[in-house]
Amino acid sequence: EKMHIAIDGPAGAGKSTIAKSIAKKLDITYIDTGAMYRALTYKVLKELIDLNNNDIIINIVNKTTIELDKNKVFLDKQDVSNEIRHPIINNNVSKIARIPEVRMKMVEIQREIAYNKSVVMDGRDIGTYVLPNANYKFYLTASIDERAYRRYLELKKKGILASFQDIKNEIINRDKMDTERSIAPLRPAQDAIIINTTSKSIKMVINEIIDLIGN
Ligand code: C5P
Repeated sequence: EKMHIAIDGPAGAGKSTIAKSIAKKLDITYIDTGAMYRALTYKVLKELIDLNNNDIIINIVNKTTIELDKNKVFLDKQDVSNEIRHPIINNNVSKIARIPEVRMKMVEIQREIAYNKSVVMDGRDIGTYVLPNANYKFYLTASIDERAYRRYLELKKKGILASFQDIKNEIINRDKMDTERSIAPLRPAQDAIIINTTSKSIKMVINEIIDLIGN
């Protein structure tokens, strides 16, 4: 039997770290859907395309291949896993992700991957739209300050220095765009289990989820 686990939530709630770890524990595939939107954003920025020109972006998405393999993302066969984490991607990705035709293509890829295997998939619309019949749906949240601080530490570890306030503003703007877009906006599925991770360690949240799954 296939096991589908959806993990959604706002930026910096710890989704990817937690989803990765759950997938490893269950020995199933981890799918980072945000990486796919980021990869396309990287291409649009690199080709100096006007981010408000939907026609060109739709044209590009139809000529682009995006593949995930072992926690790496490949854009037209090129590994862009590191490039897509840059702050410039954070500041622009939600503009690309709100285009309906972009979402259609990404969701098609995501459903195809999940069609014949067990997955832990993290994103914004997994429980509500991509995998509405998932066996388990989790919605991770945390206070804005906590999320901004986690992102700050994450970037610092990679040697990227950004101010806490800039990161906080970026997260607020991104969440706003993701929540207010017309297609598959960020929100918990009706049957999602909501976990507030504000004062919890990663390990506590992972254990909580594993307990709920019963493994
Ligand atoms: O999860 P991550 O922060 O990498 O996602 C980057 C962006 O990609 C989100 O802010 C959102 O705009 C978009 N996204 C989305 N739907 C998903 C996953 C990500 O719209 N399922």
